[in-house]
Amino acid sequence: MKEYEEVRHSLIDMLEDLDDRLTKITHDVKEPLDKDFEEQATQAENDEVLDGLGNAARTEIEMVKQAIARIDKGQYGLCQVCGQPISQERLKAIPYSILCIKCASQVGAKQ
Ligand SMILES: [Zn+2]
Repeated sequence: MKEYEEVRHSLIDMLEDLDDRLTKITHDVKEPLDKDFEEQATQAENDEVLDGLGNAARTEIEMVKQAIARIDKGQYGLCQVCGQPISQERLKAIPYSILCIKCASQVGAKQ
């Protein structure tokens, strides 16, 4: 799988960045709530936002991991729905995309 060696490297870099981001987010969520009630409300709202960010990061981590697994299995760059190759530009923009542009636009997903 030499041809995707570089992609694999950048995916692993991505994974490390995402892990860092997730650790920071999770750390922020665990900060103790302020005693002041108004502060608490704001804090709770922030936690919700951070939770959302955490989930987004977790989803992205999953997709990056899947992409690495697909490189290892020799299935990288093929659409998971129609089996057609995903365009190079698309893979450059979203290295962990699993759908070709046509199928992606049909399901309305950004990946
Ligand atoms: Zn497709």
